[in-house]
Amino acid sequence: MKSYKDWKKKKGKKQEKQPDPPKVRNDRFGGLVPQDMKKAKHVDLITLPPDIKGTNCGNCKFMENNFCVHKEIQMPVNARMCCKYWDNEEVERPWGEMDD
Ligand code: SF4
Repeated sequence: MKSYKDWKKKKGKKQEKQPDPPKVRNDRFGGLVPQDMKKAKHVDLITLPPDIKGTNCGNCKFMENNFCVHKEIQMPVNARMCCKYWDNEEVERPWGEMDD
């Protein structure tokens, strides 16, 4: 049988292995300050002006649970944001499909 000391020691180790949740904060228009500015610049990740509605992360096929799963982005996002990779299953492209 393990002692309380051993149990406590093991429990403490488990807690140390858990990574910190990503720290996100909002910018002045309600978007999220990107965690990786270099990547954000490359993909033109923006926060829309307050009165603009239309294409945004909230209606993009790459947003899942407030996280962008696009291979070039992989960051928390929200519906106040958008980037050059915005896409939706129902988009009409007269020339065909986009390359991945
Ligand atoms: S691909 Fe761009 S527009 Fe779509 S969820 Fe990701 S960051 Fe937003």
